[in-house]
Amino acid sequence: MQALPPGSTIGILGAGQLGRMLAVAAAQLGLKCRVYSDVPGPASDVAVSTTIAPYTDLQAIAAFATETDVVTYEFENVPVEAVAAVARVRPVRPGIKALEVAQDRLHEKRFIASLGLPLPAFAAVEGPDDFAAALATVGAPSILKTRRLGYDGKGQSRLQSAGDMAAAFDAIGRAPATLEALVPFKYEVSVLLVRGLDGETRFYDIPQNHHEGGILRTSTVPSALPVKHQELARDIAGRLAAALDYVGVIGVEMFYVGDGAQPLLLNEFAPRVHNSGHWTMDACAVGQFENHIRAVAGWPLGGTERHSDCRMTNLIGEDVAAWAKLAAEPGAALHLYGKNQARPGRKMGHVNRLTPLSKGP
Ligand code: AMP
Repeated sequence: MQALPPGSTIGILGAGQLGRMLAVAAAQLGLKCRVYSDVPGPASDVAVSTTIAPYTDLQAIAAFATETDVVTYEFENVPVEAVAAVARVRPVRPGIKALEVAQDRLHEKRFIASLGLPLPAFAAVEGPDDFAAALATVGAPSILKTRRLGYDGKGQSRLQSAGDMAAAFDAIGRAPATLEALVPFKYEVSVLLVRGLDGETRFYDIPQNHHEGGILRTSTVPSALPVKHQELARDIAGRLAAALDYVGVIGVEMFYVGDGAQPLLLNEFAPRVHNSGHWTMDACAVGQFENHIRAVAGWPLGGTERHSDCRMTNLIGEDVAAWAKLAAEPGAALHLYGKNQARPGRKMGHVNRLTPLSKGP
């Protein structure tokens, strides 16, 4: 395995807060980051350079790649053609496969099903001709989700009964979609793992995630997830990552249903560092951002052990106005993303509240 020495340059596609925290982590290891994005963003403040150009400008993106040693991405909607253009010039980690699968919900669900991993009942909905067959497979209550470009609960519409189907399809803009069963979950968890170039895989503790209005609000460790189901969750995520030949940190979201034939159902995965892993920055030996950088740069992976209990709370929209109070709070680690407009629903920062390590379930 060839590790990139300190002083090497990592390219990041995307200039959001995840790119920003990746660049900060890289700097701690003596590595530099260059960012490519179609719009300036929080990562530009901390990167060596930012190239602003469309993702469709394959010449610009190839030229960007030549100024780096390896390239990663910080959001899953980077056009595949852009990543393919980079891959002709430099290694891209994680690779194109994870991106392709994650960009399309139907593709993602079929891939997960093909591995024999548990997920909610689902069916494809291209248009009104598919309504009857999809409802026959999935039933109601259920959720219609656009196949592409959905995030933070956007592009989704719930059906209480079959009669809501046409209205739900209108609500998501009549875009190609998947219908999936509404899962009566006890709570949501996610598995965060890092997989190295040689396939070595390390897991973080599993956070319990609470969403409000489709947006992650808190991630808490330890979760209430029973130990045997923690093992199952890790097994599911590990098999997914191996099948994707994955390099870096992946976030795998699951619904916890409780004891039964299928205690956990896979919702979706993010081929990148994940919001539900932000607590690792302060509660672990090596956090998710540094471990992603280590994996991408071919370095030995860092320790994922947790040394404190933690609750991560996202600062959304005007929440960030409380920054001075949060900065003064004992045991709280504040992370702000440097965004100047606190629009509703916009992630402005997060706070990790640390408490001494407890035993967990
Ligand atoms: P997603 O964008 O697919 O992660 O969905 C956003 C949130 O909507 C999830 O974190 C859940 O809280 C909720 N949700 C999504 N799909 C389902 C489902 N099949 N059953 C129950 N809740 C869901």
